[in-house]
Amino acid sequence: MYDVLVVGGGPAGSFVARGMAEKGFSVLIVEEHREIGRPLQCSGLVSPRVLDMAGSSRRVVKKKLRSAIVYSGSEELLIESGDVKAIAIDRAMFDRELASSAIRAGADIMLGARVVSFEKDGRGMITTLSSSGEKVKVRSRFVVGADGASSLVARRFDMDRPREILGAFQAQSPEEVDEVRIWPEPESSFFTWQIPLDEGSLIGTASSGDPSAQDILKKRFSELERHSLSIYGGSIPIGYSRNIVGPGVALVGDSAVQVKPLSGGGLYPGLSAAQMLVDALSESFDKDKECLPLLSAYQRAWSSSVGKEIKNGMYIRKIYARLSEKDMEKIIHELNNENSRRIIGEIGDIDHPSLLARPLVKSSPKLLVFARHLLGLLV
Ligand SMILES: Cc1cc2nc3c(=O)[nH]c(=O)nc-3n(C[C@H](O)[C@H](O)[C@H](O)COP(=O)(O)OP(=O)(O)OC[C@H]3O[C@@H](n4cnc5c(N)ncnc54)[C@H](O)[C@@H]3O)c2cc1C
Repeated sequence: MYDVLVVGGGPAGSFVARGMAEKGFSVLIVEEHREIGRPLQCSGLVSPRVLDMAGSSRRVVKKKLRSAIVYSGSEELLIESGDVKAIAIDRAMFDRELASSAIRAGADIMLGARVVSFEKDGRGMITTLSSSGEKVKVRSRFVVGADGASSLVARRFDMDRPREILGAFQAQSPEEVDEVRIWPEPESSFFTWQIPLDEGSLIGTASSGDPSAQDILKKRFSELERHSLSIYGGSIPIGYSRNIVGPGVALVGDSAVQVKPLSGGGLYPGLSAAQMLVDALSESFDKDKECLPLLSAYQRAWSSSVGKEIKNGMYIRKIYARLSEKDMEKIIHELNNENSRRIIGEIGDIDHPSLLARPLVKSSPKLLVFARHLLGLLV
């Protein structure tokens, strides 16, 4: 019998497990893979605050980044900052460190065990796991679904599902670059990225269908297959979930679609939400009350903070989907002046892109005509 069973040993699951274990509750993490952090399905670009939230060591840092270039048609917009705006991390090490810290705090972990079903009874939830061909039943007071974009927990408990799931395609390239490079891709309503690493760079893109992410990347990098050191994919859930708690269960991270819709970045929103879930869940356990009212506080806290940024992102994504390549080039052209570049360099924040809207429009009123399109390019 555990207080909390966490489905999924990714960052959101390990973060919740660590938080609950530190507060003295018994926690079990169940992870279907035999190794934490594998397979790798991330570019590992985060703001410095993500490392502070996770309590990561400096060993996970691969590169500190202060500049980016956005390319569109004949336009090139160079953004530079005196501060480190983003960090390229070793994502597998980041996940392993988080899981280890949860275990040090007292959480148990089962690797190579897949959650297959749930039943409720008067004393909580009975979760069935499949491990090495054996079926194992574990009882807990509460289940946390931190099981990623295709969440079984969300499906079994009839909770909100992503509006879209983008297929992402990435490759490690030997090409050395000094800054993050971004190509807006109106065709797929997403973008292609190139992120400098300690050696070479990571290139990738995502799409919900036609053209596929693989085709877009091949078009941008014609030498892709010859030069790539490794190629891998993954899923990015997009949407805004209203229904992420239920009696005895809550979702967090990608399973709750806590992902920035314009960039696909899920580590900052997922870890922010994970802290809110720990606060709400531990309070409901402390008071030994019916969880649901207190967990609604989790949903409210989420939707009034980082969730707001996701809602704005969804709105902009709709507009972005209607832009042509020519529109995009015009927006980049309008932004390509000293004042706007300075504003982006000083105020730009990959976790809070909406902070830029007002100052940019103020400095360049011509942008008003594109104001609603603006943020999509800068996240
Ligand atoms: C190509 C790509 C690039 C990305 N780049 C970035 C980036 O640069 N920056 C950023 O912030 N975000 C990025 N993201 C998003 C980021 O990777 C996710 O938001 C993040 O991994 C979400 O963490 P999570 O813990 O919610 O889910 P996950 O990391 O998906 O972890 C879920 C875990 O649950 C396990 N699981 C699933 N089902 C079961 C089950 N039934 N039983 C047991 N275990 C189960 C899985 O094995 C997995 O380990 C990227 C995503 C992709 C696909």
